[in-house]
Amino acid sequence: MMIQKPDKLYIEEKVKYYPLTEKIICKLAPISVEFVDDYRKIGEEKPFPQRAAEDKNSLALGEKKGEVLKSVGRMKDGEYYLFHEIDCMYDCEYCYLQYYFPTKIPVIFVNRDEVLKKIEEVLKTHPHPYFHVGEVCDALAFDHITEFSLDICGLFSEYENGIIEFRTKSTNISNITSIKNPPKNIIPSWTFSPERVAKSIEHKSPSFKERLLAAKECQEAGYTVGVRLDPVILYDSWERDYKDMVEELFSVLDSRKIDYISLGTIKLHKLLVEAMRERFPENQILLDELVPSVDGKYKYLKFKRVDVYRKMISWIRTLNNNLEIKLSMESKEIKDLVFNGFYA
Ligand code: SF4
Repeated sequence: MMIQKPDKLYIEEKVKYYPLTEKIICKLAPISVEFVDDYRKIGEEKPFPQRAAEDKNSLALGEKKGEVLKSVGRMKDGEYYLFHEIDCMYDCEYCYLQYYFPTKIPVIFVNRDEVLKKIEEVLKTHPHPYFHVGEVCDALAFDHITEFSLDICGLFSEYENGIIEFRTKSTNISNITSIKNPPKNIIPSWTFSPERVAKSIEHKSPSFKERLLAAKECQEAGYTVGVRLDPVILYDSWERDYKDMVEELFSVLDSRKIDYISLGTIKLHKLLVEAMRERFPENQILLDELVPSVDGKYKYLKFKRVDVYRKMISWIRTLNNNLEIKLSMESKEIKDLVFNGFYA
C-alpha cells in the first residue's frame, strides 16, 4: 500500500528550527506549510464533524508539554503509554481518539531528545518496564518521516531490561525491517479485522491482507510480533469472517514468532457514542444492544462477550495450543468465566 502523504503541514513557531522539524520538512517536500502559535488551535473554528473528517488529512509538528509517559489505573507497575505523537491519519469509526483530544489533527512532537530521555530514565531505574506505543496514535504510520523506531532501536539495544511495543495497522515498516538482528525487546504488533470490517469502517487504513503481509515481513526480518484481534464486532456473519481471519493469520504467520494474541470486543465511552452518532449514524455497532460496564464504557452484554471470547479461543486453540491469549480491558469476572467458568 502507498504511504499516504499529508495535504498540509502545520508547524509551531517555537519548533521550526528543531532538527526533527527540518528532517520532516525535507522528507515531505514539496508540501504546503503554515506556521502557527499553538497546534491546539488548529481547526478550532470548524464544527466537530468537519474538523474530525478534514484535519486528519494534515499533520502538525509541535512541542510536547506535560507528561511524555503515562501510567493509568489498570496498568501494572512499570507499564507506560507513550505520548510522543497524538492522533492518527486513519479514521476508524470506533476510534476513541475522535473525542479524546480537543485537536483532531495528528501531531508529532519534535522535542525528540526529551522523549528519549524520559524513556531512558525509566529504563535505568525500573527493572522491567513495558512501553506501549500506539495507544494515542498509530505507532508506525509516520515512521518513514520521524524515524522514531530507529532511535528506539539504539536505546533498546543498550537496555535489554525494557520492552517496547509498537501497535499499528500500518504497512510502514521500511525502517524497522532495515534493522539487522533487531533487539528482541522491540515488538511490533498489528490490530487485525476481517476484510469486511476493515473496508467498511476502518477508513484510510491498510486492508487485512496488507497488514498481514507487513507482520509476516517483520517476522522474516527477525521480530516476534503481537496479534491484536480487537475490537471484535458482531454482525450477521461475524463468526464465519472472524474464524476465516484466524485461520488465515495462522496460515501466513509463523506462530513461533507470535508473542501473544489479544482479544477484545467493542468498548465505547459515552462521548465516543455521541461522536459516532454525529459522524457515522449508520454504524451497525450503535444499532446493537450495548450496556454500560463497570468501567463506564458501553459494551455488548456479558453473555455475548463470553460467547465471543470462547469461540475465538477455540478457533485459535485448534490451530495452536501454546500461545498466550489475553483479554483486553475485561473484568476479572469475564476472564474467570472465559478461562475457567461455566456459562452455559
Ligand atoms: S488506526 Fe487505531 S489510532 Fe488510528 S484511527 Fe484506527 S483505531 Fe484510531
